[in-house]
Amino acid sequence: MTGHKGCVEWTGIVVKRLLSNEYYTGDSVHGKTGGKLFGGGSGGGADAGGYVVRDTHEALVSRADFDRVQEMKAEQARVYNGKRAEGRRCAAGRNKFKKKVVCSDCGKTMYLFRAVSQEGDKFFYGCSSHNRSRKVCPYRHKVMLEDLEAAVFGVIRSHMDACLDAERLVRKLNAGRQGMERYRLISRQAERIRERMRQAAGKKAGLYADFAERLIDGEEYAALSERYTKEAEALSAELERLLEERKRYERDFHIEEGWEKTVRGSLGERELTQGMVDAFVTRVSVDRDGNCEVVLAYDDMLAELLGAVREREAEKDEG
Ligand SMILES: [Zn+2]
Repeated sequence: MTGHKGCVEWTGIVVKRLLSNEYYTGDSVHGKTGGKLFGGGSGGGADAGGYVVRDTHEALVSRADFDRVQEMKAEQARVYNGKRAEGRRCAAGRNKFKKKVVCSDCGKTMYLFRAVSQEGDKFFYGCSSHNRSRKVCPYRHKVMLEDLEAAVFGVIRSHMDACLDAERLVRKLNAGRQGMERYRLISRQAERIRERMRQAAGKKAGLYADFAERLIDGEEYAALSERYTKEAEALSAELERLLEERKRYERDFHIEEGWEKTVRGSLGERELTQGMVDAFVTRVSVDRDGNCEVVLAYDDMLAELLGAVREREAEKDEG
């Protein structure tokens, strides 16, 4: 192909332009561009489809070839978009974590994507901010799905083991002399609180009688009544706290019911299940090297339980 400026190379971009522009079929297309024709004037407008004048100049590409190429391009786009949609569906079906996997740098939810390779499909989590802008999040935070799931499974496994071990240990220590003494001590404290609550209730009942017999006036009655009510509330809260503490010194001590059910229900699992993720996992934070920090829903309870173990052991050492 030669023009008045000399030889034009058949580069990919030239061919693509040639095959994308109807002008080269010899037809003229008018009013299709949204750009300005002249300074101050406006073009055909974005909504104008334009009109075509056939055979206004010599064709470089035949109309048949042009139409065929447009069809091929549309087909390629359909295949590409289809594959992309399939990849997204495929990845979404594998994501057990949904919004629980986050980027440690920007805090945004990570997305799961499919990478097709010779050895077969692989799935990775990546930072969605990084995908949009390197400025918002400069690192990809890429981690393979299998690696992330293995890390989470490992953390849940050791959590369950630690929890059952601690429960057994607390039970054993509670059955010892110190544990039993502590249980009895708390029981006596609770009994004293109950006695004070009975007295307070009696006083409050007598208050109205005093008012009826005009030993106290209305103002005094209201003030005292409010005071006794507040005292009763404080005593009730104290009793509740003691009974809660006593539970942890019971000889047949058990971890909290919901937690125990979750742990025992997952003990037999050999790999990470959706149920385990739903029950245990609060958040998985992925750093720029792909390391995962796993936060579990029951981390606080385990910390409390391990605290109880240390407490009992300290008591045991004292005695
Ligand atoms: Zn990020």
